Amino acid sequence: MADQYLGLLEDLGLPKGKAELPPPPTLPKPKDAPSQPYLAILPGAAYGPAKRWDSASFASVIRDLQKSHSLQPILLGGLGDVETCQAVAQSLGSPVTDLSGKTTTLELAHWLAHARLILCHDSGPMHLAAFLRKPAVAIFGSTEPAWTGPLGSSVSVVRHKVSCSPCFLKTCPIDRRCMTRLTPEEVLTACVQRLNQK
Ligand code: SF4
Repeated sequence: MADQYLGLLEDLGLPKGKAELPPPPTLPKPKDAPSQPYLAILPGAAYGPAKRWDSASFASVIRDLQKSHSLQPILLGGLGDVETCQAVAQSLGSPVTDLSGKTTTLELAHWLAHARLILCHDSGPMHLAAFLRKPAVAIFGSTEPAWTGPLGSSVSVVRHKVSCSPCFLKTCPIDRRCMTRLTPEEVLTACVQRLNQK
């Protein structure tokens, strides 16, 4: 899509340029950030519920990464993600820091910049993670990574391709199979691979 926008320049007779990320900024660590490595989880997706993976599945991956890599989970998101984050916290069933609705966009960027790993959907924070060159795993369902996927190479995309995807719908008219058929094991594998990459 970035390429498509650059194509508009070409249509105007200007040099098209290349769709690439600018150098990442150096951002300070949030003062409340834990000293141990943490997992930033952004289970919301402002676009609509069709893009959101289940809270129990997020909780399963979080629990496994706590056990295998001692990553402290931190839930993040905007005001519209508070309910979604609460559902993940509830599914987790153990105390978790939930900063949804409590950070500005810049503060969110600070939290992402110091996370060991970011787990999110196809969303604004996914592109922020890519811009910051942070290791991240982004879940796709109703949208198309070839069109709106992250630039750079720090973000892994996971999806369970179904015949109706991409539909680009905000709410699924059938059974959310693009989301429900993506298993916690598949997402966990992508997370561990990303953690093992330099
Ligand atoms: S129609 Fe298919 S691709 Fe679209 S949200 Fe539903 S299951 Fe996913």
